Amino acid sequence: MLPQMVDWQHLNWQPNAEQQLQFQRLYELIIKGNQTLNLTRITEPLHFWEKHLWDSLRGIMPLLEVRGERLEVRGERLEEELVQHSAFKIVDIGTGAGFPGIPTAIALPDSQVTLLDSTRKKIAFLDSLIAELSIGNVNTVTGRAEVVGKESQHQQAYDIALIRAVGSASVCAEYALPFLKSGGLAVLYRGNWTTEETETLQNTVKRLGGAIEKVEEFTTPLSNSIRHCVYIRK
Ligand code: SAH
Repeated sequence: MLPQMVDWQHLNWQPNAEQQLQFQRLYELIIKGNQTLNLTRITEPLHFWEKHLWDSLRGIMPLLEVRGERLEVRGERLEEELVQHSAFKIVDIGTGAGFPGIPTAIALPDSQVTLLDSTRKKIAFLDSLIAELSIGNVNTVTGRAEVVGKESQHQQAYDIALIRAVGSASVCAEYALPFLKSGGLAVLYRGNWTTEETETLQNTVKRLGGAIEKVEEFTTPLSNSIRHCVYIRK
């Protein structure tokens, strides 16, 4: 079982009962899939919650916040408008076992999430996972980011590109930027980060027609590990 009372407060966000159930089911299906596929080494419930669920959502916190603020400020009557505002087209590049894409799709049910990976076996697993979870706002693509990002139905087609643990920051930027519409946002999930890395990345990003908007440092809530998210605006 996933822990029930874990603290989502650092995110300024709380799952509803249905989302809580989907996270629980997701956890069970990944543990089951792990018996035949090498999906993840993180299987202990609290570690899974922190490193896969919480970490995935920490990167999209700006999107979760937009939702909350609008709700509070403008009230229930405008909920329909709000729903439209949070209907993003999102791609998760090198999704592996579905992170950060699947928790993102659960947290943002009005957005459409495309999970991309070059490993066919992982995508086959994700297809069955999506069916069993019955989440309607996720689709999958098998292929290499550097190829798929140049195909007409994917190039400049997304509002948000997520990328975690796929390569160096520059490689991640190279993969992500082509997918984005002008004004779109790439979120690079990183562990340690130095100012020198920002400088190196700046050159790549400039060449690709983007700008580093912000580098956020944060501490994970259970193991107090330092992590970073790099936000690049196209
Ligand atoms: N994002 C997940 C998985 C990281 S492992 C997580 O953070 O848990 C890296 C994944 O990226 C692997 O599943 C691998 O198949 C995929 N990958 C590596 N290079 C890729 C490329 N060029 N295009 C698409 N997927 C790639």
